[in-house]
Amino acid sequence: MKSVRFFILTLTLLLLAGCAAPAAPAAEPCRYELAAMDTFMTLTIYGLPDEEAQAVLQQAAARIHQLEELLSVTSEDSEIYKANHAGGEAVSLSADTRELLSEALALCRDTDGALDVTIYPVVRAWGFTTGDYRVPEEAELATLLEKVDDTQARLDGNRLALPEGMELDLGAVAKGWTGDRLMELFREAGAASAIVELGGNVQALGARPDGSPWRVAVQAPEGGYAGALEIADKAVITSGGCQRYFEQDGVTYCHIIDPATGRPARTGLASVTVVADRGVRGDGLSTALFVMGRERAEAYWREHPGFDFILLGEDGTAAITEGLEDCFSLCGAWEDRPLEIIRK
Ligand code: AMP
Ligand code: MG
Repeated sequence: MKSVRFFILTLTLLLLAGCAAPAAPAAEPCRYELAAMDTFMTLTIYGLPDEEAQAVLQQAAARIHQLEELLSVTSEDSEIYKANHAGGEAVSLSADTRELLSEALALCRDTDGALDVTIYPVVRAWGFTTGDYRVPEEAELATLLEKVDDTQARLDGNRLALPEGMELDLGAVAKGWTGDRLMELFREAGAASAIVELGGNVQALGARPDGSPWRVAVQAPEGGYAGALEIADKAVITSGGCQRYFEQDGVTYCHIIDPATGRPARTGLASVTVVADRGVRGDGLSTALFVMGRERAEAYWREHPGFDFILLGEDGTAAITEGLEDCFSLCGAWEDRPLEIIRK
């Protein structure tokens, strides 16, 4: 009998709330919680009068649901579902889906296919969409992989054509993209600072109302926290084997698939946390670097400026890129472990 364990880690990164500033009237937070995109979300904004803040948060929640409806891989009304079932015909996309897909395809190419948004048939075969987990045979994976190749997706203006049988899954980038849209919305509404937690993604507008950085906790694979990160105006996005997985015959299978093999990525990493200016890039890269493993991730980082990362190894090791040297520290059970700094 296979034993199945499944859970979506809602808060891979938790705000260390103990650091809240003393309440000045303008710095009162206004908070909104919702469940969407298969996870639990918290949106917090500061610096707006209460009624205005409530209205902005309602708009933000509506925007999240709107994006979820466009991008869902399972809802028959979504644009992604329609594109996946168009039998090789071109379909028209909304501006949101087109822009996200265009960014995602660029990241797929840039990461040499470690990120591949056409991975859906393989993700489904492992049961990660339905929770009906199974380990597919090699032959089945080989057949499914024939349909996995992001370079075959044709995006021309707002028209998308996928070869018959190819199916998109934007799950690796959708929440990061959504975070970017929320930051835009909050900025335009005049919020002085804001922070959102979208499952394992945290994204901040500005610093905390008192000007100090946000403190974001990085979760340890065994539970609890491994480290704390101080950031402002950044997306902090984690991909990890423990976020969604199942076990069979003593082997753990995680939801991040190596497109080269069709099998869950196993490179010795427990999690990758990317710190980037934009959520969509942080989200795409956290998934891609998890697939690449440490050596390739380091090489990619050296060639592509503008982001940093934290690697937690399955063997209990921790490493960060040099840009995080002054803003990250290990904590909890990880506090006394060595922290390796990866340099250019
Ligand atoms: P994330 O949690 O952002 O790392 O995204 C993981 C999700 O993206 C999975 O649940 C799949 O739906 C999808 N996915 C898995 N492997 C890949 C991959 N190599 N490239 C793109 N999407 C993937
Ligand atoms: Mg991702």
